[in-house]
Amino acid sequence: MHMQAKNILMSGLNTILPPRCPVSGDIVDAQGQISPKIWGELDFISKPFCAHCGIALDLEVLENGKCIKCLDNPPVFSSSRSVFKYNDLSRNLILGFKHGDKTHYVSSFVPFLEQVGKLMLERADFLVPVPLHPRRLIARRYNQAALISGVLSKSCGVKHLPLAMRRVRSTPSQGHLNSGDRIKNVQKAFDVHKKYHSLLKDKSVVLIDDVYTTGATVKECSKILLKHGVAEVNILTIARVMLDD
Ligand SMILES: [Zn+2]
Repeated sequence: MHMQAKNILMSGLNTILPPRCPVSGDIVDAQGQISPKIWGELDFISKPFCAHCGIALDLEVLENGKCIKCLDNPPVFSSSRSVFKYNDLSRNLILGFKHGDKTHYVSSFVPFLEQVGKLMLERADFLVPVPLHPRRLIARRYNQAALISGVLSKSCGVKHLPLAMRRVRSTPSQGHLNSGDRIKNVQKAFDVHKKYHSLLKDKSVVLIDDVYTTGATVKECSKILLKHGVAEVNILTIARVMLDD
């Protein structure tokens, strides 16, 4: 359809059918916006949280600002931050944009990603999304991590490299695996594309994903990036599962 005709049709549709929040159904200002009511129900991660892995904890559980797990076994990445806790509501939001066509949600999340990731983004040379295996990419049509990274890049000005990492091994879905099995599941699953080896050397990378679950995936990706000479890897995700195993 001719672009102008399409625009006229769209603005006409907006008058007849005002844009609604995809979760609550409330009328909002623009297509894809999430209503203030839903934002209010999201469980944002605020201090105190572990200075290393970003998990929200009571102050008394933290030692020197870090959780016990990070003190015992420090993650290979330098830091990790997520916008909100993974709960029923954020799960629906993220599933919607993982499997549905709700790609416009991403722009609603970006200001919050910039806020929680301020320090790591200031130091970052590149944004690198966690890759999907091509087979899963075909099923889902897009990689949600690359989608986030692309929109975030436009907003914060840090270049994103959607093809820097790739999955060299298809791994079963992590859905029902415990944390030990998740670590085994992702081992040797990732690689850095040869074309990017020299570009990434001594650089600061922010690794982007939608959900931080046990951290198995982002830790494995960080390990591979560091092995290829990246100076530091920081993790930025929309949601964080609060597990204590
Ligand atoms: Zn920690």
